[in-house]
Amino acid sequence: MAFDYDLFVIGGGSGGVRAARVAAGDHGAKVALAEEYRMGGTCVIRGCVPKKLMVFASEYGEMAADAQAYGWDMEVRGFDWTRFHANLEVELNRLEGAYRNTLRNAGVQTFDQRATVVDPHTVALADGTRLTARHILIAVGGRPFVPEFEGSDLAITSNEIFHLSALPTKALIVGGGYIASEFACILNGLGVETHQYYRGDQILRGFDQECRTHIATQMQADGVRLRTGTDIVRLEREGAAIRATATDGSDDLFDVVMYATGRVPNTDSLGLEGAGVHLGRKGEVVVDDYSQTNIPSVFAVGDVTDRIALTPIAIREGHAFADTMFGGQKRTADWDLVPSAVFTQPEFGTVGLSEEDAAAKGPIEVYVATFRPMQTLFAGRQNRVLMKLVVCAQTRVVLGCHIVAPHAGEMIQMAGIAVKMGATKEDFDRTVAVHPSMSEELVTMRKPVRKT
Ligand code: NDP
Repeated sequence: MAFDYDLFVIGGGSGGVRAARVAAGDHGAKVALAEEYRMGGTCVIRGCVPKKLMVFASEYGEMAADAQAYGWDMEVRGFDWTRFHANLEVELNRLEGAYRNTLRNAGVQTFDQRATVVDPHTVALADGTRLTARHILIAVGGRPFVPEFEGSDLAITSNEIFHLSALPTKALIVGGGYIASEFACILNGLGVETHQYYRGDQILRGFDQECRTHIATQMQADGVRLRTGTDIVRLEREGAAIRATATDGSDDLFDVVMYATGRVPNTDSLGLEGAGVHLGRKGEVVVDDYSQTNIPSVFAVGDVTDRIALTPIAIREGHAFADTMFGGQKRTADWDLVPSAVFTQPEFGTVGLSEEDAAAKGPIEVYVATFRPMQTLFAGRQNRVLMKLVVCAQTRVVLGCHIVAPHAGEMIQMAGIAVKMGATKEDFDRTVAVHPSMSEELVTMRKPVRKT
């Protein structure tokens, strides 16, 4: 049977664009891609990229204050959200254009409309056009999840936070994961009175306990009003403000309430069940290591599969899929020892096992260094850096490396190479320190603080 395309990709985010570009540009496949919103997907348009730019924006106030200690005569007269937001839009437009160019240069045909799956080889565009393809790739990502409760429609999510017409004076963030904790720090840094309610006993569940405590303590010292063990019962409109009633009976007024309580796969009304594709409990597309669904012609990559919801993982899944199906190289992504960063303030970089997870597997040694970093110590700040290595007592292999520090995301990328290569504690130790730096502590920790 002759198909219109070798591959039809639904979703123009990190995973879909990489798969389309490699399939068409590197392997000569005839490829089409449909995107219903803006090209670039969550990461570029309403995720990692605008978030990181907001992190940068939020750090300048403190940096300007510290500059005084370094002899600079500086006066900070406040933050202009409108100016920042206009510049942000310019940058996002530039990036969206770059994504479109990439696809155009690779020879991918794009459709700026929603596509749904009709059957294992057919998609329907929103304008009614039906197109056929030998393979269909689902790369539609996820969307924020807000639980249903009284007044939940008054809450915004990370999708809307980038489009506020004005910066709030007082904001509530609900949740304790990556997005909630990052935005609590961003808003706090921009001068917003920021409250964060989290239902559990400590934010960033799943990460190394000592690091979570260190980050939460620092966030609170910097001004974030964090309340753990607290959830919302209802939200009510009160003039221009929102009244939030918490589980402990207390209530407070906020200009903005943002929910960052997880994300769900974007598979609603996509036609997948009708085509016979198995979905999981959360609506995720169930795939094997080659990103293939139970229907042999239908594949899925990225957040919609609910494996590891990180851009670089979606990119690798998309690339491996394209190489396997169109490049004659059967290969999978690698989901083991994935370094990542949480862009809280302080920033957190992590790779491998937490102390708790490592200890559950066998005897370990834990090396920790905590100190006040030179740059901010000079300016009189009390913030502390934390460097931690979790080492297997038997093999000496570094099982986990965790860094809470300015630029921890940059540092963990490098440390991640060593950990991925299976470096031992002694490999770290025989590496000469770069002095003076923060990361030199990673190679100068002599005695374990704990053995378990
Ligand atoms: P997370 O899964 O990280 O966090 C969700 C948070 O919401 C948890 O604290 C959870 O609590 C809480 N929660 C869930 N349901 C409810 C509920 N019904 N009521 C109250 N609280 C609730 O999700 P995020 O939305 O923060 O991020 C989604 C994913 O996006 C991340 O897992 C990550 O993979 C990715 N991401 C990565 C970033 C990075 O690399 N820097 C940045 C942003 C996102 P509990 O812990 O009790 O379950």
